[in-house]
Amino acid sequence: MTDLTPMMKQYLSFKEQHPDKIIFFQVGDFFEIFFEDAVAAARAMDVVLTTRESNKKNPIPMAGVPIHAADTYLNKLLAHGFKVALCEQVEEAAAGGGLVRREITRILTPGTVTDPEMLEESRNNYLAVLCALPGGAEGYYGLAAVDVSTGDFRINERSGEEAVPALVDELLRLQPAESLYCSSGAAQTFRPFLEPQGTPGTVLDFAADPVQIKETITGQWGEETWEKLSLSRYPAAVAAAAAALEYLQMLQHPARGKHFRRLELFLPGSRMPVDGITAQNLELIRTIREGKRKGSLLGLLDHCLTAMGRRLLRRWVEQPLLEQNLIEERQEAVAELRQNPLTRGELRAALKQLLDLERFCSRLCAGRVNARDLVSLKETLQKLDPLSRLLEERRAPLLQSLRQFPDFSAVVDGIGRALADEPPLQLREGGLIRDGYSEEVDRLRSITSDGRGWLLEFEKKERHRTGIKSLRVGYNRNFGYYIEVTRPNLAQVPSDYLRRQTLVNAERFVTESLKEMEGQITGAQEQLIRLEYELFEALREEIAAGVPLLQAAAVRLARLDCLQGFAEAAERYRYCRPRFSGEGRIRIRRGRHPVVEQNPEERFVPNDLLMDDGVPVHIITGPNMAGKSTYIRSAALICLMAQMGSFVPAEEAELPVFDRIFARVGASDDLSRGLSTFMVEMQETAQILNEATPRSLLILDEIGRGTSTYDGMSIARSVLEYIGRRIKAKTLFSTHYHELTNLEEELAGVKNYTMAVKEKGREVLFLRRVIAGRSDKSYGVNVARLAGLPPEVLLRAEAILAELETAASKMPEKQLSLLPVVADPPPADGRAEKVLGELEALDLNRMTPLEAIQHLYRLQQILFQSDEEEEDRSN
Ligand code: ADP
Ligand code: MG
Repeated sequence: MTDLTPMMKQYLSFKEQHPDKIIFFQVGDFFEIFFEDAVAAARAMDVVLTTRESNKKNPIPMAGVPIHAADTYLNKLLAHGFKVALCEQVEEAAAGGGLVRREITRILTPGTVTDPEMLEESRNNYLAVLCALPGGAEGYYGLAAVDVSTGDFRINERSGEEAVPALVDELLRLQPAESLYCSSGAAQTFRPFLEPQGTPGTVLDFAADPVQIKETITGQWGEETWEKLSLSRYPAAVAAAAAALEYLQMLQHPARGKHFRRLELFLPGSRMPVDGITAQNLELIRTIREGKRKGSLLGLLDHCLTAMGRRLLRRWVEQPLLEQNLIEERQEAVAELRQNPLTRGELRAALKQLLDLERFCSRLCAGRVNARDLVSLKETLQKLDPLSRLLEERRAPLLQSLRQFPDFSAVVDGIGRALADEPPLQLREGGLIRDGYSEEVDRLRSITSDGRGWLLEFEKKERHRTGIKSLRVGYNRNFGYYIEVTRPNLAQVPSDYLRRQTLVNAERFVTESLKEMEGQITGAQEQLIRLEYELFEALREEIAAGVPLLQAAAVRLARLDCLQGFAEAAERYRYCRPRFSGEGRIRIRRGRHPVVEQNPEERFVPNDLLMDDGVPVHIITGPNMAGKSTYIRSAALICLMAQMGSFVPAEEAELPVFDRIFARVGASDDLSRGLSTFMVEMQETAQILNEATPRSLLILDEIGRGTSTYDGMSIARSVLEYIGRRIKAKTLFSTHYHELTNLEEELAGVKNYTMAVKEKGREVLFLRRVIAGRSDKSYGVNVARLAGLPPEVLLRAEAILAELETAASKMPEKQLSLLPVVADPPPADGRAEKVLGELEALDLNRMTPLEAIQHLYRLQQILFQSDEEEEDRSN
């Protein structure tokens, strides 16, 4: 340590102040990183790890990136969850060649970036701040979710036993890029959920002092907001919000929250919380297999043309509405846009050309926009009036209110008058300001351009005076203006020329008058550049003061974009407008699965669904691959889409407004999830049974599948009984346990449906049609044939199945009785069930023919035994 150079000591002193960040230490044209940080950063940025002072005994590990390309590397570090402090040189060179002064100029963290290159356009980039306060039985939990790049600032507070699961759900939905914990308690509670999904977290040193918190909040949003939202009732939420503001302050974030126009308080009840498991099972945001947006409901419905719209649509999909009038307000707008393809087309064309206003605002507040950006802002704002006029004739109240944009004529005018049509990207090279905007700019410009004229004249005069035809006046950065004379003409150079520079073929000179002119021109130029920059800055600040209005416009555009997207989808995919009768009935005529119907390889067969409070539980049986899962998922998707305000894939739909929609899938459908799947399946089921109400919709796909037949069937059955007797939620339950169909006779409100199949000799044909009734065969053998099992195995399996069926039909008590649920089955019956169960559990795809024969042999043995016993008894 003692033999470190002064520069390394300086580095370490910064590192000491920011132990959790990687220090980007400017050394000339490079940012350098040292010690252990260099090792980690080199790996994350994919650059070579080198050493400094490699001649010494303990060389220092080092990684460096050129400053001009720093953004790319910063991106990579942030994507890996690192925080970075930029430590820049703040003087050209130290006096006497000593140590250059450096300062931390900016801190970048994954949750606070605003540069477009570092952000994904169609997603919000959230910083999540979590706060836990003691009180009550379970305490209060607050969440602040902040998107610095758009100015989105929302808070949420929960208490009671639901608090943590509800906030965790919200966090999984938000997928924050970074999280902060206001206390170690909050970290203990939430970190286990956030860390596995790759969200880096920090425990803040935050003193939750109520007075200080109120000051911070009212300082940002004013007293009125505090009163209007009754914020004193949500201590944990405001603490989280205050902590977020303090954090941004500490980072010296250039935006410092100037653009956090509105604080949104999200309390339970305003939106339907779709839990993460349901979202996954229904593939709302991404597909299960590949995790892609394409193939998900969001991917299908996204016909947005702006990034603002795309980000909002994701929220609409994840948080459907709960109030009929709000839903119908959206429907009205969608219906009108659908009926008017011309308007829609024009609206789409207009939206396509707009800037991402939300993210523009945050860059504007951070002082990170250039003159060209302002010109494109002007162009975007100029398009709002025509866009608004497109909707003039529309009657839907939502369209009418969304087409009211603030008046931006002053901004458009200001930019138009001040800036050149195509200003350069650079702000310190002049050329920003339009002629006629500032007298001083015009004056300085005329000096420089007069100067240029003078120079041309001067060149002509000197050629004439000296008789050197090739004499040339030029300029270079180091020597300024000069007269160049080629070597053969040197003899004619007059005595008042002063030599400046010697080249291979020429010499360069100046004269007194040329030097004088040079002084005038460069002086004017420097002044001009400085003045243009100042004028630009003033304009930029003036526009930044109007950010709340720009954001208001952005919100309107995002919503219009989502609505036209719904209309576009409705038209393209032939959706219908669902009705809400308020009678608690689901009546879907010829409903389809929105994603599966897009598969060009199979014509989709639509199905009806009729369900009312009298018969809220439907059990759907049918062979594997018959279409059970697709059918029940279509119902869930149709109901969810309806509550988003979208039209739905059906010819007619009458629906209730659900308070929650849950979808659960039996574990063995998904072998990739590992051993504890049954446990998970049961936990997921438990959650539903606790939270569902008579106004919920439950989609249960082969629940009870993740364990042995008896267990599974028993659990499936008791779950169904509980739903039918207690919860009375509308439920679609698919199962391959035919025994469950007996419930229809035993429990009011249960009805059996099955997938129609047609048998053609040995083949079965899946008709994909849902009909009333039960299926009594599993058709497993038929599926085995489809899968290509050797004929010998198939023949033998059929024979065994026939024997089993006769054996089973001889037994009087074939099915499980209703109560007690887990009755001890008669012993002989047990064997038959066991054989059936094992037969069903065979993984035919992974079996050699020989293994299959061996299994069949074993099954036969069990059966023979039972037959013998039966004979014994009857004798
Ligand atoms: P199950 O759950 O009964 O095993 P799935 O619902 O998984 O069956 O359906 C199996 C396949 O059948 C699906 O992948 C889909 O391609 C096709 N399918 C399902 N329902 C329909 C339908 N109504 N029309 C056309 N194809 C369908
Ligand atoms: Mg299925």
